[in-house]
Amino acid sequence: MKKYNFYAGPSILPDAALEAAAKAIFDFDGTGVSLLSISHRTKEFQSVLDEAKSLFRELLNIPDNYKIYFVGGGASTQFFHIPANFLKTKAGYVNTGVWTKKAIKEAKFYGEVDVTASSEDRNFSYIPKDFAIPADLDYLYICTNNTIYGTEYKCDIDSPVPLIADMSSDILSRPIDVSKYALIYGGAQKNLAPAGVAFVIIRDDMLKRVARPLPTMMNVNTHVDNDSMFNTPPVFPIFVLRETLRWMKSIGGMDEMYRRNKEKAALLYDEIDRNTMFRGTAAEEDRSLMNICFVMAEGREDLAPEFLEFAQSRGMVGVKGHRLVGGFRASCYNACPKESVEALVACMREFEEKHK
Ligand code: PLP
Repeated sequence: MKKYNFYAGPSILPDAALEAAAKAIFDFDGTGVSLLSISHRTKEFQSVLDEAKSLFRELLNIPDNYKIYFVGGGASTQFFHIPANFLKTKAGYVNTGVWTKKAIKEAKFYGEVDVTASSEDRNFSYIPKDFAIPADLDYLYICTNNTIYGTEYKCDIDSPVPLIADMSSDILSRPIDVSKYALIYGGAQKNLAPAGVAFVIIRDDMLKRVARPLPTMMNVNTHVDNDSMFNTPPVFPIFVLRETLRWMKSIGGMDEMYRRNKEKAALLYDEIDRNTMFRGTAAEEDRSLMNICFVMAEGREDLAPEFLEFAQSRGMVGVKGHRLVGGFRASCYNACPKESVEALVACMREFEEKHK
């Protein structure tokens, strides 16, 4: 049976990237050697890294005064790398869910944390807006897309202090103004690559702001100065990342990607709002394009296990909501085709018919 992949991460990647990766495992770029067993110091791998960075720069429109590097350890390693490097006295964190809570916990090892705004009062169902940003913060930290709660910032906020953003689950899904940020980072295992690599986009002036002496691998300068090669980088995920970016460019780049993502999200949110069996959980104006969360409508809650089984029987995979919030979550990342969303919508309609 055909499967429709809605996993939240690791998650769907373009077929073109998977095909190129499968081929490279046996013969990497005509070297006659597997990508998994070639030195990262070869000119062939250097060219993968260079192209990955230049495509990232081109697709996201990253200005010249920013550096890009790739590093292992996932996004969670950045939770402590960021305060280790930049938290001198006090940093502001906007608390929008599980991933910012985890980042706050790590920051407290290094200094004072000001929870500048929070949406915890309504179970993280919205994005705080119009909050004051104290001018004495070393930086302000946000998570632009909350993978678990399905909320997303719709614009790049203006901050009087350096703005740092976790974009693990919405990087390259919509255009952003990179120049509003001092540092953007994320785990690549949602929109870009298999698990194992994080990307960091850092403005040059931040490299001079490192707050304390640090172990070499923790210092942002190490990774910039050594062009992601201070130690062995995650070669395979970086290769797949390059292929994903090549695919994105081939379909028309950021504008086309954004158009597709808006179209898919509108299809599903329209159905959630129309269908009498379901309701959305995120505030309408903050609904994520990437992670679409919904639950059974009031009075229908007992049908949740039945719907999950029904959806699975129709080929849907990965639609179970995160264990902390329950319900359902369809992650419609860049590589998720419209056809998958249409199949899910049809399945929701069929379920409604069945229970009329
Ligand atoms: N930040 C966000 C927004 C996430 O969705 C996740 C994982 O799903 C993380 C951070 C943690 O990523 P990692 O598993 O790479 O540490």
